[in-house]
Amino acid sequence: MKLWLTRPLPPEVEARAEAEFDVEKRVSTAPLSADELRRALTDYDIVMPTLGDRFQPDVFAHVPAPRCRLLANFGVGYNHIDVAAARAVGVTVTNTPGAVTDATADIAMTLILMTARRAGEGERMVRAGAWEGWHPTQMLGLHVTGRKLGIVGMGRIGQAIARRCHYGFGMDVRYVSRSEKALGFPATRCDSLTDLAASCDIVAVAVPGGAETHHLLGADFFSAMQRHAILVNIARGDVIDEAALISALQDGQIAGAGLDVYEFEPVVPEALKAMENVTLLPHLGTAALNVRTDMGMMVLDNVAAFVAGRALPNLVNPSG
Ligand code: NAP
Repeated sequence: MKLWLTRPLPPEVEARAEAEFDVEKRVSTAPLSADELRRALTDYDIVMPTLGDRFQPDVFAHVPAPRCRLLANFGVGYNHIDVAAARAVGVTVTNTPGAVTDATADIAMTLILMTARRAGEGERMVRAGAWEGWHPTQMLGLHVTGRKLGIVGMGRIGQAIARRCHYGFGMDVRYVSRSEKALGFPATRCDSLTDLAASCDIVAVAVPGGAETHHLLGADFFSAMQRHAILVNIARGDVIDEAALISALQDGQIAGAGLDVYEFEPVVPEALKAMENVTLLPHLGTAALNVRTDMGMMVLDNVAAFVAGRALPNLVNPSG
């Protein structure tokens, strides 16, 4: 079976792939073009897609009888793949849950602390040579210890953020999720997003992307938040109505935002770049060598199981 690795991967992952499978490696780091998306389905048995590779219904419609049987996604988020459309033409999808959890929660903490304590703004001031020295009222931020934290999407990453905030910072955790969670620490499930928005000082977004969560947080959510509160998004950009977020920040409805993902990634609106109270990271959630290696190994575990006809360790269910 021919496996297409659509991006350069950590050396250990590429070495294992080449030792175990008939591999073709793509050199580009850019998402697959329309032509490449089609070729993925016609020229290979197994493909490793990742973020930005838009396997949407039109691609499967072009190739109704694909050679490809497995899309072994590199990443836990698979909203770029229409899983039902894939399944309809006999293509199975797997992902890499768990390998990404702690690293992504750590980036959420980075964003919470940088935004609350104005670290980006301070760093820019120092680098610009504009710092005139310490004084008692200089650059006062939001003290995070003991604050109320709201998690939107209490899954693996949401729980890892909540755990860090509870044990590390004594925060009072609230959350919204589709189901009630049994957690090993106190946390209150809110009845609605508005209830969570109104009662929290810090909101962290950790739901999957996709049609169900598109613009889950918009103008209503931001107007319900408190004026001193901050919002952090490590999930997917289009979970937030970015234009509404920009308006809320410009109007002072919320105090700041920390973003790892963007609605039209990698395009970051000039309005966001212009605001000092916004922390902007380039989708760094899982960007550590051992994490990317673990993700790659998980992809290959799924490929190996598929080739051997065994049950797939990380099968994505079309119903989500
Ligand atoms: P997960 O374990 O599946 O958790 C997702 C949570 O969201 C679940 O608790 C789920 O509730 C909840 N949820 C789903 N739809 C919802 C809705 N409409 N309203 C409220 N809650 C909803 O996934 P994960 O491993 O934590 O990953 C979450 C997402 O983070 C990924 O899908 C990916 O897009 C993103 N991510 C980003 C990065 C990055 O680099 N920035 C890295 C990794 C992942 P139930 O449990 O009740 O179903």
